[in-house]
Amino acid sequence: MDVVLANDANCSALAETRLGVVQQQFPDARVVFVIILGTGVGGGLVVNGHVIEGFHGITGEWGHNYLSEAEGYRCFCGKKGCNESILVGLALERYYAQHSGQKLDL
Ligand SMILES: [Zn+2]
Repeated sequence: MDVVLANDANCSALAETRLGVVQQQFPDARVVFVIILGTGVGGGLVVNGHVIEGFHGITGEWGHNYLSEAEGYRCFCGKKGCNESILVGLALERYYAQHSGQKLDL
């Protein structure tokens, strides 16, 4: 049996394009970008029905792009202000607790 491994965000983008919400609601879409928010931040890009992986295979990955130093915590990559340090579940919980005074699980 052949086994194929691929990046989860790319698989998600391709699945939504061919079988999911994009196919159902935007069947003529030529460019699809799927965002994954969870314990990390990721994304997958599909153009004209094909996953765009890029030279290094990380085209859709935007977790360590700079967003803001005003919010967020030091990222595991060592920088501050990465999308991932602001938008992941734990960071959103911290932000909500700071601003509301209540701790809630996302
Ligand atoms: Zn980072």
